[in-house]
Amino acid sequence: MTAISRETFDQVMVPNYAPAAIIPVRGEGVHLWDEQGNEYLDLAAGIAVNAVGHCHPKVVAALDHQASQLWHLSNAYTNKPILALAEKLVNATFAEKVFFANSGGEANEAAFKLARKHAHNHFGAEKNEIIAFVNGFHGRTLFTVSVGGQPKYTEGYEPLPGGITHIEFNNIEQLEDAISERTCAVVLEPIQGEGGILPANADFLTKARELCDRFNAALVFDEVQTGMGRTGDLYAYMGYGVIPDILTTAKALGGGFPMGAMLTTDHFAQSMGIGSHGSTYGGNALAGAVGNAVIDIINTEDVLQGVKQKGILMRDLLQTINDKYQVFDEIRGKGLMIGCGVVEKFQGKAKAFVGAGLQHGIMVLVAGPSTVRLVPSLLITEEEIHEAMARFERAVAQVVKESQ
Ligand SMILES: *Cc1c(COP(=O)(O)O)cnc(C)c1O
Repeated sequence: MTAISRETFDQVMVPNYAPAAIIPVRGEGVHLWDEQGNEYLDLAAGIAVNAVGHCHPKVVAALDHQASQLWHLSNAYTNKPILALAEKLVNATFAEKVFFANSGGEANEAAFKLARKHAHNHFGAEKNEIIAFVNGFHGRTLFTVSVGGQPKYTEGYEPLPGGITHIEFNNIEQLEDAISERTCAVVLEPIQGEGGILPANADFLTKARELCDRFNAALVFDEVQTGMGRTGDLYAYMGYGVIPDILTTAKALGGGFPMGAMLTTDHFAQSMGIGSHGSTYGGNALAGAVGNAVIDIINTEDVLQGVKQKGILMRDLLQTINDKYQVFDEIRGKGLMIGCGVVEKFQGKAKAFVGAGLQHGIMVLVAGPSTVRLVPSLLITEEEIHEAMARFERAVAQVVKESQ
């Protein structure tokens, strides 16, 4: 047996990822430590997943407790933790029914299948077209990657599922032209995440709602990244005041435990009758216990209000850094979902900021080739934000210096 190291990855793992040189071994709140004991402030949060930080004591306690009670039954039996979570989600949102899955992609797979099935049941097989958007991202299964609007993720996987049309995000005219009686669903992220932190315009969402009503199409919001408090509302649709028919949620929902959910109305849920869809693990007791702990922490006035305030603070500090170094042409997003679009000089090179960040003890992400993304724990303190931005400034200074 040789020692496990980063080199082991290259020896035994499928090469679809390119993980960093360091291996984090412990986390607490927004802090991470690697094998050598180096400390990092984590503003990547497992790609907007660790919304209550690493190893939150209440979540650890919930998982520990459930681990000695009951893990898994399959859906031949239901379990109390998942029913409690479903009830909380129903009480907190427009939804009346919940389907649980293990990831965002799976939640979306369920959503797209439901939209198809519903249209099929009520209007016939001809009504099967899904309208989706360029730069959208909905997961990596063949169906979800096909609904996503980033060709680089479907290349080589053809033939792809049919009946999917892509149009420009935030373009009302194109949506008006594309939608018809054949449309079964309009699928979008209220803020495109992987595509570059690109918020929908309020009037675009209002129009999408109106058109879906007129053409009997389901309005599907993929809130896998925007959901569970990320924008300062429990779900982003609440901030926009536009209610979807189907909503998907994952990432922060499990706070690091793999889970996802599809929320919908009674009316739509009826179309997913017994046997029409399923999952072996979806909604198991461990996931339920963790999800309950996470939503109890996040869905409070204090935390959600805090997300809005801390988002403003972080953007102000980013603006101050940018006034000095002029590396970003736009700082956008909502709450603690922040994207910094890089200036011409750094187009396609947002990754440079991620690498430099690591050297200065700060973890950030990219969202596409030209946007630096910051999506920290919703519980990050103002003091931690100040420290994180001080480190980020040193990283920016290094990138600027190295580019000269
Ligand atoms: C991350 C993400 C997904 C995919 O979630 P997985 O858990 O990786 O399957 C889907 N939609 C959006 C908007 C996402 O950000």
